[in-house]
Amino acid sequence: MSKTLIRGARVLGGEPQDVLIDGGTVEAVGTDLSAEGAEVVEAGGKVLLPGLVDLHTHLREPGREDSETVLTGTRAAASGGYTAVFAMANTFPVADTAGVVEQVYRLGREHGYCDVQPIGAVTVGLEGRKLAELGAMHDSAAGVTVFSDDGKCVDDAVIMRRALEYVKAFGGVVAQHAQEPRLTEGAQMNEGVVSAELGLGGWPAVAEESIIARDVLLAEHVGSRVHICHLSTAGSVEIVRWAKSRGIDVTAEVTPHHLLLTDELVRSYDPVYKVNPPLRTERDVMALREALADGTIDIVATDHAPHPHEDKDCEWAAAAMGMVGLETALSVVQETMVDTGLLDWAGVADRMSFKPARIGQATGHGRPVSAGEPANLTLVDTAYRGTVDPAGFASRSRNTPYEGRELPGRVTHTWLRGKATLVDGKLT
Ligand SMILES: [Zn+2]
Repeated sequence: MSKTLIRGARVLGGEPQDVLIDGGTVEAVGTDLSAEGAEVVEAGGKVLLPGLVDLHTHLREPGREDSETVLTGTRAAASGGYTAVFAMANTFPVADTAGVVEQVYRLGREHGYCDVQPIGAVTVGLEGRKLAELGAMHDSAAGVTVFSDDGKCVDDAVIMRRALEYVKAFGGVVAQHAQEPRLTEGAQMNEGVVSAELGLGGWPAVAEESIIARDVLLAEHVGSRVHICHLSTAGSVEIVRWAKSRGIDVTAEVTPHHLLLTDELVRSYDPVYKVNPPLRTERDVMALREALADGTIDIVATDHAPHPHEDKDCEWAAAAMGMVGLETALSVVQETMVDTGLLDWAGVADRMSFKPARIGQATGHGRPVSAGEPANLTLVDTAYRGTVDPAGFASRSRNTPYEGRELPGRVTHTWLRGKATLVDGKLT
């Protein structure tokens, strides 16, 4: 494999340096490195980050290849600067057996744009009644360590307790989609002033918070590890903060859209803003940003949820929930966290690469940009400003809430184990 010299890159936002890649490994980091025998990429002050890691991606394959496939989803991931994504289990069939998780894992490796680490279902068929074969999925070639019924909440406390006990044996983690089902029956948007005015069924914050409170207590009781998906309320932040102060082994994620958008957008009745959990209020958005900055929320995860246009271009009540996110995540984080002074680029590397890799045990990802480490890297033109045009997305779906919005930053290059997957903004 060839050599690549990335010249003059601000590693994690620091002073410009050269980074030499040899084969799949970072060979050296320093100033005035020799370009002999190497292809040179002039970074010109762009920010070099470890390849991003997404703990929450819906790749839709098998079963919903009309919205996304492992190929199109991993191309979208590479476009957004990701070198590893965790694929949620709510496919058709559900990823609740070793066979399905191995299939998804293998497809990711074969396509070669981004490593795919499958997430296994907690319960058979995501039905919430019987534990899936967690051990078999862990022992499979896919080596599953993260389990989730995402899309649905593991609402039965006994099942949740058993899952936490089971994964403890091999150091796995249960990722909970916290949504008390009875409290959210018929819910269409956040419960609050806007839902009352629009007359749409409300989704109360307490439906999320009550499950998080229960699950951190269960994790403490069992001595196991729980991860909370897509935190969306100020109250959820308070519970996680309390749990961490108590020494409970809990981690949490926030999506880019919950860091930027509010339920005021629902007044448009544009289903592109329909998402689960729903967009909340300005107060929630500010609490989430602050919690991501202070480490109460550990990571940013996209909850990339592609849907074909016929499932989104319809009336609000009938529309599917979810937004694509892989190709805009870093820009939204720059807008909401970096350009606001809440996080520096080292902080972004921490929240979008180091920590998600650690939570999911993604071997070889989320590593420092230093000699001897795997060359999983992403180069970002942070001075760029542009308008989001979904026509240019690599994802098969276009359901972005940012169409026409100006956002900062653009990923220009991504390397997966030294192989360029994105060059000058174009997929290889
Ligand atoms: Zn979810």
